[in-house]
Amino acid sequence: MESLRAEIGEENADLWLRPAEPFSLEGGVLTLKVPNKFFSDGIKERYQKRLLTLFRESSGAEIGLDFRVERDLTRVLPPSDPVPEASPQSDFALSDLNPRYTFENFVIGESNRLARATAESIAKSPGTQYNPYVIYGGVGLGKTHLMHAIGNAMRRQHPKARVLYTTSEQFANDFITSLQNNAIDSFRAKYRSLDCLLIDDIQFLIAKERSEQEFFHTFNSLFDSRKQIIVSSDRSPKEMTPLEQRLISRLEWGFVADIKAPDLETRIAILRKKAAIEGFSVPDDVVLFVASSVKTNVRSLEGSLIRLKAFQSMTGTPLTVDDARDILKDTIMADDGSPVRAETIQRVVALKYSVEVKDIKGHQRTASIALPRQVAMYLSCVMTEMSSTDIGRAFGGKDHSTVLHARKKIEKKIEDDPFFLELINRLQADIKAAER
Ligand code: ADP
Ligand code: MG
Repeated sequence: MESLRAEIGEENADLWLRPAEPFSLEGGVLTLKVPNKFFSDGIKERYQKRLLTLFRESSGAEIGLDFRVERDLTRVLPPSDPVPEASPQSDFALSDLNPRYTFENFVIGESNRLARATAESIAKSPGTQYNPYVIYGGVGLGKTHLMHAIGNAMRRQHPKARVLYTTSEQFANDFITSLQNNAIDSFRAKYRSLDCLLIDDIQFLIAKERSEQEFFHTFNSLFDSRKQIIVSSDRSPKEMTPLEQRLISRLEWGFVADIKAPDLETRIAILRKKAAIEGFSVPDDVVLFVASSVKTNVRSLEGSLIRLKAFQSMTGTPLTVDDARDILKDTIMADDGSPVRAETIQRVVALKYSVEVKDIKGHQRTASIALPRQVAMYLSCVMTEMSSTDIGRAFGGKDHSTVLHARKKIEKKIEDDPFFLELINRLQADIKAAER
């Protein structure tokens, strides 16, 4: 099973192999326990031949394969119980909209004016003019913020509306879990009864075939009943080609707006706004210095402000531009747009984590190697112009979905852990320095 898992990739393994457990090995037949027929049929159809070969190779004997369908009784409803209708209350609870991400807190600039204006008019009258609505743009430019803002405003203006915010990964997980628990009906009842579905980072549906198909059907069902669909992505629909053409065309039916990196005035306004929210007063020359040095994304701008605030609360003296230059030197160095190569990234990351470059490019899955590999893949995504396919190739011939997965994972870690963000910033600075 482990060998097969490595061959078919995490996504497929999670869907097909995780629910299967070895049950018995008797009379030369290995029996796998699976939750329902969907899985025994699926595994047979896809992997039976390969499994038999792997059994032979690993045991030196001919071993047959059989299945035993065994429901997890705690999860299955007695047959007399009807499938529950998704209850509005529990759906809303799942939505976890971030109350801080509002239109009021979103600074308008040339880079986001259209995206934001459209968002506001959708919040007022969902499902009418701009449907579906696609917001795309680079990392840390405010896509997630805008989506939450739409959700929050819609809740306020239409308290009865069933609004759900989710990421494409959560959607896929939810879908897979529902398959495993025989709960596909309530999954569909939940997603298809919404008034507004917001799906963040749709690009992570790439390479998740079944989830993508399910999303396509969810999309059609909502769209046909004139419900609002909003998706975000790191690229325009045209560049989503690994996704199916029919889904891409659906997305292009609607309204597409991009968010670009903010210009200097917008960066200044964002810094002022964030400082005011934090109750932190920053001298004008320091604001100007930070805004002119940190250019590529709003998340680094925020990170810079947090570091300055920490410094000030420690020293208690007013901040100067020299302090700021010193405190932010890593971020600033990492922000100067010149290109770097994947080899440099691999070399610097390997050095930092005391592993070998060949391990980073290899296939070993132990945590001590997987983490630096994912970090290096993430940095290759954000610091080079390479596509995820090219990056996979530069990492010993890995699939682009592995690269996207690494990127997502590290982004999450950065969001959760300020010390990790610090480490990433420092690595970026080291990589820049190594390229010089
Ligand atoms: P994305 O989803 O595009 O990667 P996010 O929405 O997570 O980016 O934005 C990153 C951070 O930057 C968030 O904390 C968000 O509040 C902030 N941000 C982005 N754009 C703006 C803006 N125009 N005004 C205020 N804050 C912004
Ligand atoms: Mg986001």
